[in-house]
Amino acid sequence: MGKPTGFMDYNREDAEAFSVKERIQNYNEFHTPLSKKDQEKQGARCMECGVPFCQAGMQIGNAFSGCPLNNLIPEWNDLIFKGCWEQAYNRLKITNNFPEFTSRVCPALCEKACTCGANGDAVTVRANEYGIIENAYEQGLAEANPPKVRTGKKIAIIGSGPSGLAAADQLNQRGHSVTVFERSDRVGGLLMYGIPNMKLEKEVIDRKISIMKEEGVEFKTGVNVGKDVKAKKLLDEYDRVILCCGASNPRDIKVKGREAKGIYFAVDFLKSTTKALLDNGLKDGTYISAKGKNVMVIGGGDTGNDCVGTSIRHGAKSVLQLEMMPKLPDKRTADNPWPQWPRVCKTDYGQEEAIEVFGHDPRVYQTTVKEFISDDKGNLKGAVLVKLKPEKDEKTGRLMMKEVEGSEYTVDVELVLIAAGFLGSESYVTKAFGVEVNARTNVATAEGSHATNVKNVFTAGDMHRGQSLVVWAIREGRDVAKEVDLSLIGYTNL
Ligand SMILES: Cc1cc2nc3c(=O)[nH]c(=O)nc-3n(C[C@H](O)[C@H](O)[C@H](O)COP(=O)(O)OP(=O)(O)OC[C@H]3O[C@@H](n4cnc5c(N)ncnc54)[C@H](O)[C@@H]3O)c2cc1C
Ligand code: SF4
Repeated sequence: MGKPTGFMDYNREDAEAFSVKERIQNYNEFHTPLSKKDQEKQGARCMECGVPFCQAGMQIGNAFSGCPLNNLIPEWNDLIFKGCWEQAYNRLKITNNFPEFTSRVCPALCEKACTCGANGDAVTVRANEYGIIENAYEQGLAEANPPKVRTGKKIAIIGSGPSGLAAADQLNQRGHSVTVFERSDRVGGLLMYGIPNMKLEKEVIDRKISIMKEEGVEFKTGVNVGKDVKAKKLLDEYDRVILCCGASNPRDIKVKGREAKGIYFAVDFLKSTTKALLDNGLKDGTYISAKGKNVMVIGGGDTGNDCVGTSIRHGAKSVLQLEMMPKLPDKRTADNPWPQWPRVCKTDYGQEEAIEVFGHDPRVYQTTVKEFISDDKGNLKGAVLVKLKPEKDEKTGRLMMKEVEGSEYTVDVELVLIAAGFLGSESYVTKAFGVEVNARTNVATAEGSHATNVKNVFTAGDMHRGQSLVVWAIREGRDVAKEVDLSLIGYTNL
């Protein structure tokens, strides 16, 4: 252990964020990382407690806590404290294929379970991870390292999100020949066309994809498997197929007036901004614009928050964010102790920005939309909202949100963004391969396995697990790679 008293000697210090006024002028990442010396001190705050829940990635209570990749956190915290940045990178890359993504977008399940956090501020694990990977790039440690031997086995991966990329990276390193098929024009799945540029600048994805290409992974973009290419052709040409198509079937809001012009799914809105930003610097007006509009985001989660931040950057007139459930408490309650995942109210970057720009929190709790109103040309001009209250369902005993009679009110709104979650995988792909799905339309497999009911076809990521997180998609990609490698070679060292 580096510095026994580090957690008492040094306070937690986070990367500084640009002021709201500055950062909403563009779509760039907006944190200034600590200097290497200061980050080393943050590494010293890790007390190597002996019970590192931070790296456990296990279910505690109703939710997972700790890093799902089992990153060797106390080891690399200690190594950066000692200034051994290269060794820290060598330990980090054992468990995480893409620290450049997780250190930017992960909700840091590790920090919520950090022992320092039981009585004070958690160690800055995610920022330490960021420091290690960016230092590795600066020092030329993260360069391409192609496998020395090829096995002659061919693998097709459908979908280039973090699960497909992690599986591709692992299997390629093992010497198999991997081709990734992607229906979009760019690689990365929701890393590219979901998560906004201000959270993850897209050059960071391109930087890693170039390395993977140099290492031998082949990417075919603009190919929609199941439509442009038949499933049978892939099964004939490849030894194994891995379906990593995500859970991209959005949940709709089916109320009166839904056909009004001006109502979009959140991912379509976010994708159109990122694509226009990358294609033409948002100059040609091809994206869904919130400029000068009253915007209503339906859904109080992270995707909704990304819509709030993006709408503000477009120059929205106002932003309202509807959340059906009651506001969570500001601090952990007695039935939600450390190291459980904290069920507390989080004010994310978009909401922070809305508070500063419009003078109030955009979130309205226990409220939903009852009707959309359009003008005589069919353009959206308003919405009828209604208040909700929790009530026990007599049959199931579960708490349900019920409408409060007479609580309806109308708001002016010209743009609605639906961020109400996802319903599972898209059926044209699962039907094309003949794979079974479960009640949630995720691809069905035996517990702990990634093999589908169809010979040589495997699955991973949101398509298997349901809508989740980047870090879980990487975990899934690594696990499916192990199973595929075992099925091909008879043993695996992945
Ligand atoms: C707006 C938004 C913001 C998010 N923000 C965060 C965040 O900040 N942090 C976090 O941890 N998680 C976040 N998530 C969740 C996270 O992005 C996903 O859990 C993760 O990307 C899932 O990875 P995946 O590889 O399973 O699928 P995806 O990333 O969905 O990738 C699937 C890919 O498959 C392709 N595809 C589908 N069908 C076919 C086909 N037939 N042929 C060819 N290609 C196909 C798709 O085009 C897509 O590129 C966010 C999600 C959304 C929607
Ligand atoms: S991947 Fe996420 S949970 Fe794991 S160490 Fe990094 S920030 Fe923490």
